[in-house]
Amino acid sequence: KVRVRFAPSPTGPLHIGGVRTALYNYLFAKKHQGDFVLRIEDTDQNRYVEGAEKYIIDALNWCGIGFDEGPGKEGNYGPYRQSERKTSYKQYAEQLINSGDAYYAFDTAEELDAYRKDHEAKGKTFIYNWHNRQKLQNSLSLSEEQVKEKLEKEDNYVIRFKSPAQEHLLIKDEIRGAMEIDTSTLDDKVLFKSDGMPTYHLANIVDDHLMEITHVIRGEEWLPSLALHFMLYRAFGWNAPKFAHLPLILKPQGKGKLSKRDGDKLGFPVFPLEWQDPESGEISSGYREEGYFPEAVTNMLAFLGWNPGTEEEFFKLQELVEAFELDRVHKGGAKFDPEKTKWFQQHYMQEANDKIIAEKLEEILQHKEIKTSSEYVLKVVKLMKERAIFVDDIWEQGYFFFVAPTSYNPKNAKKAWKVNTATLMQELTEVLEKQEEFKAEVVQNNVKAWIQAKEVGFGKVMQPFRLALVGAMQGPDLYEIAEMIGKKETISRLNKAIE
Ligand code: GLU
Repeated sequence: KVRVRFAPSPTGPLHIGGVRTALYNYLFAKKHQGDFVLRIEDTDQNRYVEGAEKYIIDALNWCGIGFDEGPGKEGNYGPYRQSERKTSYKQYAEQLINSGDAYYAFDTAEELDAYRKDHEAKGKTFIYNWHNRQKLQNSLSLSEEQVKEKLEKEDNYVIRFKSPAQEHLLIKDEIRGAMEIDTSTLDDKVLFKSDGMPTYHLANIVDDHLMEITHVIRGEEWLPSLALHFMLYRAFGWNAPKFAHLPLILKPQGKGKLSKRDGDKLGFPVFPLEWQDPESGEISSGYREEGYFPEAVTNMLAFLGWNPGTEEEFFKLQELVEAFELDRVHKGGAKFDPEKTKWFQQHYMQEANDKIIAEKLEEILQHKEIKTSSEYVLKVVKLMKERAIFVDDIWEQGYFFFVAPTSYNPKNAKKAWKVNTATLMQELTEVLEKQEEFKAEVVQNNVKAWIQAKEVGFGKVMQPFRLALVGAMQGPDLYEIAEMIGKKETISRLNKAIE
């Protein structure tokens, strides 16, 4: 059975790159009737950020990316937070010491720093591996006695992986194909620290094994760790899962990786939900708060590094599940395109049920303390939806359905309002007053007849009329607006404009 995991570290808000990784894992799992596991990798307490885990879960929920197992959704492989699995890692580190694949190292930070500087001065880079292990303080260079003594004295130690000096590893990536890696330049990565905490590498491999993960799908930034992970599985004698490294997400200009900071600079969100930094209090906006629908965001993200091989571009989550194939994921970086996200949003806005849009619009109206009926709001949605990308647009472009304009666009007013306009509008109110049935079509016919009889240009009447009702020259058919707001309000707005 396919089992995949999304394994974020709660060091801050999940950015859209992380959401894409979660999405691809989810799609792959669901496509193969497998399980999607959420594992929180919180072994690095220094980098722990309050609220980050909740944010991650809220963000996945908002996107509709449901997990089968994870914090708060216990399965057979829990707990799903590494901090709660803490005690289980040490035995694995010791297992590797016993098999000769790992060793204790006692070098202090200062000593290592000095080595580094010394190497730099000679124009070389210091790598802790077979090159110089023998010259450093570790269980491969020291005598058994010395090691025992150091351990008993409870000196700070770390457990390092013993990288082979000269080996060519052949590792397969599901997206990139076979890769050859020369181990001679790999460093002996730290697996475990004397504070009792495993590093990412050890915890990640142990948990993927214990949780019976079959496919590791993650960002390209983890590709440099692949060789070590591969060797760790081998050292433990475990079957390695299949690996798939997803392409980078690039800035819209295509130069460099899209970073968490780019959003504010470039004017589009890089987070699914709004995030307030607990330390600085700074707020970064999210797709949800900007008015995007989750369908638009998941559709956009799915196409950042994958395509279905057809012309079809609109895929809801369930359709993505059906279409998704790991071997259609690209190797090259994917350029982020904020306009494309808007385009998806426009599509899902037009596709959405009017009632759902009306409910969202009602929320906006409630915030503005505007009281009106749901029926009325629904009618406005039907009239305005076509021009809108976001629900908020309906308010912005159609506020006049709910409130009288408090000012008139000066440019429009100058054009529309001439010397005789007040008299003309006065007469118009009298015409409207006489309308028994205040229906758009009827009113339109009667006003038209009156204009024709008066022999004035249509614009002379219609422009100031629109200005009076709307405050500017925008909006749908004026008679529709008049019918919607009703006879009394129409006349009242005209009177106000005449003053
Ligand atoms: N905790 C790692 C991260 O934050 C997980 C990487 C992986 O998927 O192996 O991305």
